[in-house]
Amino acid sequence: MKNTLVRATALDNNIRISSVITTNVVEEARKRHDTYPVATAALGRVLTGTLLLTWGLKEEGSITVRVLGDGPLGGIVATANPYGEVRAYVQEPHVDLPLNKLGKLDVGGGVGKGMLHVSKDLGIKRPYTGSIPLVSGEIGEDLAQYLLISEQTPSLVSVGVLVDTDNSVLAAGGLVIQALPGASPIILEKIEENLKNVKPISTLINEGCNAEKLIEIYLNDIDYKVLEERFVNFRCKCSKERLEGILISLGKKEIKDIIEQDENAEIRCHFCNKYYNFDKEELKKLIK
Ligand code: ZN
Repeated sequence: MKNTLVRATALDNNIRISSVITTNVVEEARKRHDTYPVATAALGRVLTGTLLLTWGLKEEGSITVRVLGDGPLGGIVATANPYGEVRAYVQEPHVDLPLNKLGKLDVGGGVGKGMLHVSKDLGIKRPYTGSIPLVSGEIGEDLAQYLLISEQTPSLVSVGVLVDTDNSVLAAGGLVIQALPGASPIILEKIEENLKNVKPISTLINEGCNAEKLIEIYLNDIDYKVLEERFVNFRCKCSKERLEGILISLGKKEIKDIIEQDENAEIRCHFCNKYYNFDKEELKKLIK
């Protein structure tokens, strides 16, 4: 299925909706980072949620979500831009946990207690960062809380990842509904009430719902207007030049030690897991 992000508005522009299918994007992240199921689900939810928050970003802008919990997964970081490009990593990809009480992958247990930070880089001045304590570590609730507290926008956030028995990603995606100041205060409650009869989002996607169909199901009898649809994909803009900067920041002494001891350095990009090798000659150039 097409992995696209759809944006829509409803009720005279008083609520706005973003909906995204990320099955292939999360599968790409899983392969790059070799994540186990609970890590795949956590990383996939953060990555999906980050794409959902890109509304309003201009050309040079980006948004970074950092979920820093004390659970076995460690930190989870994702960055997305307005072109639907996202990159993400989880600190500990090889975490295995028993299913939670509901029989689902225990993302909350893997994340633990901690903080959620959302940084918006609008490409003009310094990035703006909003932070909240994690509510449950299940990501959807945490992002909704962030939107309520930091952006004063009551919101409903669903993010879901369905992992297959062979550990690959069967379905992934998410949806956010934001009530803007002119919206009736009870509109989200009404939508939430309706959702009690709706299947989990990853099940809907696995059954073939595309991004727009998800909006139709979530809004039930509310009319909406689609504003745009764009493809989403996993993309990291790392390069050897950018990673040179990391080496240089280690300091000349450290680089000299590497040259003497190992003769070369292998630097890994956290976001996409790509390795860059610097040989002796290249290292020497860095300390000139
Ligand atoms: Zn990279």
